[in-house]
Amino acid sequence: MNTLSAQLEDLVTANRILAREEVVDAFGHVSIRHPERPGHYLLSQSRAPELVDTSDLMEYTLEGEPLNRQGRPMYSERPIHGGIYEARPDVQAVVHNHSPAVLPFSVTAAPLRPMFHLAAIIGDRLPVWDIRDNFSDTSLLVTTMEQGRDLAACLGRGRAALMRGHGCVVTGSALKEAVMAAVYLQVNARLLLASLPLGEVTYLSPGEIQLMSQSQVRPSSLGRAWEYWAARAGRTP
Ligand code: MN
Repeated sequence: MNTLSAQLEDLVTANRILAREEVVDAFGHVSIRHPERPGHYLLSQSRAPELVDTSDLMEYTLEGEPLNRQGRPMYSERPIHGGIYEARPDVQAVVHNHSPAVLPFSVTAAPLRPMFHLAAIIGDRLPVWDIRDNFSDTSLLVTTMEQGRDLAACLGRGRAALMRGHGCVVTGSALKEAVMAAVYLQVNARLLLASLPLGEVTYLSPGEIQLMSQSQVRPSSLGRAWEYWAARAGRTP
C-alpha cells in the first residue's frame, strides 16, 4: 500500500474529501512530498479539487517547475507548497484553503485556538501571516518563492498558519494527518464562531492538546476518519 500509485490514489482521495467537507471549493489545493524524490512534490494541475483525478497529478521541483507539464494549467500558488517543503523536512503533505469559517480569525484579533478535543491536532497557537508586511500591496496570492518562504518562516515549526484576508495552510507528517487537521481546523473555527458570542471561551490547555493530538495521529484514529471521509466523498479508501 505504500507504492507510488497507492499514494497518488490517496492524493486524489484527499482532494475529494476536502471538497466534500467544504474545506475547499473551486479553489484551494493539497500536495504530497514525492515519496521517492523528497526534493519534489506532487500536486494537481489547476483544477477544482472535487474534479481531480490521478491523470491531473503533476510532479514539481520545490521551486515549482513542472517535470512533465504537457500544456496543462498550473496553480499559481505553488510556492506555498515549495516554500513549506523546503523549510520543513518533516512535512509530507500541505493543504491550502480559503475556509469561510477560518477567514474571520485571519482579519481580527480573535485567536484561532483549539476549543474542543478533536481540534487538538491543529496545535496551540496559529500564527497569522500578512503578505503585506513584507510585500506591500499584492493580489494576496502567494506566487513567488520569496513569498512562499516568508509564509513558511511564519509557520515555523507549527501545524498550520492563517493568511490574512486569504485563508490558511495546514501541514502533516502524513497526508491523512494534514487532511484531518484541515477538516478539524474548519470545524473548530465554526464552533468558535458559535461560542464567542455566548461569552468567554475555555480553550484546551497545552497538556490537553498534547495528549489528545497524540491520540489523534495514531494510525487507527487516522484510518477510521479517513475511511469515513473517503466514503462520504464516494471514494474507496
Ligand atoms: Mn489561495
